[in-house]
Amino acid sequence: MTEKYVLKRMAKMHCARGPNRCKTCKEYAKEKKIALLDTDPDDPELIARPMIELEFEGEMIFVPYDVLAYFDTFEEAKAYALKKNYTVSIMTEE
Ligand SMILES: [Zn+2]
Repeated sequence: MTEKYVLKRMAKMHCARGPNRCKTCKEYAKEKKIALLDTDPDDPELIARPMIELEFEGEMIFVPYDVLAYFDTFEEAKAYALKKNYTVSIMTEE
């Protein structure tokens, strides 16, 4: 079962233009960070949100998410989550 909060190794997001058209996006795409995701954002109706595939009760579903913070390592991310009292699921590399 996946928790509301998820740690995932992914490229940091900058804007909707993407790495082909935006220089900053291109920089960000080079380096993967550990992202702390909130997969149950307060206003899920907001359509601009990115989606992520998660396992929920044995099925893969797409859910909207917010990135709460980025970290360099899982250790840092886990320490932060612990401090905030968040229970996190860790997504392994696909
Ligand atoms: Zn950008």
